[in-house]
Amino acid sequence: MSIESSAEYIRLEEQFAAHNYHPLPVVVESAEGAWVTDVEGKRYLDALAGYSALNFGHRHPTLIAAAKEQLDKVTLTSRAFHTDQLGPFCEALARLVGKEMVLPMNTGAEAVESALKVSRKWGYDVKGVAEGRARIAVMAGNFHGRTTTIVGFSDDPGARAGFGPFTPGFDRVAYGDLEALADTLTDDHVAVLLEPIQGESGVLIPPPGYLAAVRDLCTSRGVLMIADEIQSGLGRTGTTLACQHEGVEADIYTLGKALGGGIVPVSAVAADREVLGVLTPGTHGSTFGGNPLAAAVGHAVVDLLATGEFQQRATQLGARLAAGVEPLIGKGLDAVRIRGLWAGLDIDPTLMSGRAACSALADKGVLAKDTHGSTIRLAPPLVVTEDDIDHLVEQLTSVLHG
Ligand SMILES: *Cc1c(COP(=O)(O)O)cnc(C)c1O
Repeated sequence: MSIESSAEYIRLEEQFAAHNYHPLPVVVESAEGAWVTDVEGKRYLDALAGYSALNFGHRHPTLIAAAKEQLDKVTLTSRAFHTDQLGPFCEALARLVGKEMVLPMNTGAEAVESALKVSRKWGYDVKGVAEGRARIAVMAGNFHGRTTTIVGFSDDPGARAGFGPFTPGFDRVAYGDLEALADTLTDDHVAVLLEPIQGESGVLIPPPGYLAAVRDLCTSRGVLMIADEIQSGLGRTGTTLACQHEGVEADIYTLGKALGGGIVPVSAVAADREVLGVLTPGTHGSTFGGNPLAAAVGHAVVDLLATGEFQQRATQLGARLAAGVEPLIGKGLDAVRIRGLWAGLDIDPTLMSGRAACSALADKGVLAKDTHGSTIRLAPPLVVTEDDIDHLVEQLTSVLHG
């Protein structure tokens, strides 16, 4: 069967793939760097980059080479055996983020689940919380993935409704409100889980000093600080980790998305031995976690980040993007939040919805994604050029003013 048009591919997806997404009507066939091409040959600048899973662009040559080399050796063993890839990858990643150990997993949600399990076990084994009483504080507006436990502490009705009953032991507090967090923490709390910048919520940056104050509070109360850097980390904001903007070191980092280089799902929990050491054989696992293909790609990602080049690009290109979009405030945009090459733009809702803006952008050859009604999120690959950024700003301006 040969398929002739975009419409036919879309019809097949709608008939046979579950409808848990509402994609724009663009059917991608190939991609390179910051640009994708659809089945009809139209080219688009990718200003979403797989929600930061494509920080290094599509098919970065170094990452593709690492994957190809590993494909010709061994791709999967399970953790029943050692490989020549896992140790070197874990060492490199641990050093990159300044931790002693790494737990390799696959998806972001699994990394978060693993961090929650590790924190609870640390609470019982190390802190001495009474069995069954461990609590974890989370933030309003959080996004940490889609498992039943994680959606159970979300406040997004779409993510939650119809999926209960939920895992107990979580308390949700206002993001950015230190006092609310301080009032919530009890002797039974083992961890505070937060995103250093809330991505899905629309690139919400907490007030200056907040992360550092949370760090101090966690230290003084004997509670682990878990920073979910799955979207904010690995170069996106101009630093390896977004926590570094406030000189903050979390106890546990969850990493994912860009760690797989846009090729394979790779996630990880990074922490010191005092924390990750609570896991012993049989207490946690994953058939695919740390497989040699994932480890080879993840290691190549870490090597790219270790040069600092991508963090620097995020800073420089982000400044260019900011200079382009900030003048649009009051002229189609109500607000702009930007850190590195990551921006949340609130469109004047009387002008158009975020979805309508993204549709119009796609018509003009720019791919972006709306979130929460009138916000659009821009997260182009860190390999975009200055001309690409200027093109993006031009197209956005014409959508808002057209
Ligand atoms: C995307 C994301 C996740 C979930 O990652 P998946 O790979 O989709 O499971 C978790 N936390 C944050 C902050 C994310 O952006």
